[in-house]
Amino acid sequence: RTLKVDLGDRSYPIHIGPGLLPEVGRLCREAGFPLQSPLLIVTDSEVGPLYLDRVASSLADEGFRTVVHTIPSGEASKSLENFEAIMTTAITGGLDRSSAVLALGGGVVGDLAGFVAASYMRGIAFVQLPTTVLAHDSSVGGKVAINHPLAKNMIGAFHQPKMVVYDLDALKTLPKRQILSGLAEVVKQGLMIDPEFVTWLEEHAEGLVALRPDLIGEALEHSCAIKVGVVTQDEREFGIRAILNLGHTLGHAIEAVGGYGTFLHGEAISIGMAGSALLAVKLGRDRAIYTDTIRVLKAFGLPTVLPDRYSEDELIEAMMHDKKFKQGKVTFILPESIGSVSIVEGIEESAVREVIGQLKKGDS
Ligand code: NAD
Ligand code: ZN
Repeated sequence: RTLKVDLGDRSYPIHIGPGLLPEVGRLCREAGFPLQSPLLIVTDSEVGPLYLDRVASSLADEGFRTVVHTIPSGEASKSLENFEAIMTTAITGGLDRSSAVLALGGGVVGDLAGFVAASYMRGIAFVQLPTTVLAHDSSVGGKVAINHPLAKNMIGAFHQPKMVVYDLDALKTLPKRQILSGLAEVVKQGLMIDPEFVTWLEEHAEGLVALRPDLIGEALEHSCAIKVGVVTQDEREFGIRAILNLGHTLGHAIEAVGGYGTFLHGEAISIGMAGSALLAVKLGRDRAIYTDTIRVLKAFGLPTVLPDRYSEDELIEAMMHDKKFKQGKVTFILPESIGSVSIVEGIEESAVREVIGQLKKGDS
């Protein structure tokens, strides 16, 4: 199956299905990448040993020259140090303006390699080869970034890929905890915009966690389509695209305060979604929004309670550094009901502080 992301001259296809990594060479030829310019494959220490061969040999078969850079796996690798190291590989490897960067891995590799592609010679082509459940989200939409020790995704760009090749076979080797983390982002797409999808997800939670091929394929395709729909309406987040940040204002703070990788991204935004539901209730919305939200998250074995050691002060401080904080007030994406959210500006710090306290008790 192929979905299309319609963004004028930045449009691109998302190929999704089994057996696609061995087709990467052919797809790069068809995309018009010139054989004279080397391609840079960025991957990580877990994914490389499993899937690099498939990609590298299919590119070699088509006559491409490749350079490979492998980073240690994990969120801590989305750093300025690795950004510089990959730049060094790109320069010594002779990449030119017609070269492309191929990101083979999860959201960490995709965000980092994408930012390299956005910056190298002021921007070269880039291809996403996502290998995690979560990366169905991160590989689409063109947001690329690295972390600063004080704030998540603080240094970045908008840089759309030339194509996304999502080989669902690669998911088979994912550790369970990573599957659940990725499903958090699938649940998020439903909670923000699609009530029927949430019902379907909840019904099929067990099969999805077990990666039943028919179910996971359908879920990821639908979730990608939701993301594409939002991104094509508002590529640069002047308005509606912000709803994709449901659970992320608090989730990003949890990631930064806990140390990158302590909670996986999906786990952190799961707690963040529980927090936004509590905040919605605090601001007068129906209490069912909280109970419904945590029921869905728990069906996927996702965390909904904040550990005690996360201090209100540190989390608020981290949110201040986030892009959503202005003049002591914060913007949150708040659920109205399952499958519907609104963007609420000007929320007082004190309300957020109280909700963080409640979130540690798991209820209010
Ligand atoms: P990840 O890239 O760290 O991958 C998770 C772990 O699984 C890593 O240890 C990796 O080595 C391993 N792995 C990857 N594929 C595997 C496979 N097929 N088999 C076995 N192991 C495999 O993390 P992620 O969850 O994919 O992505 C999280 C990142 O994505 C976060 O940094 C988050 O901020 C970012 N993100 C970005 C966007 C965006 O729009 N750009 C959206 C959502 C999330
Ligand atoms: Zn996310």
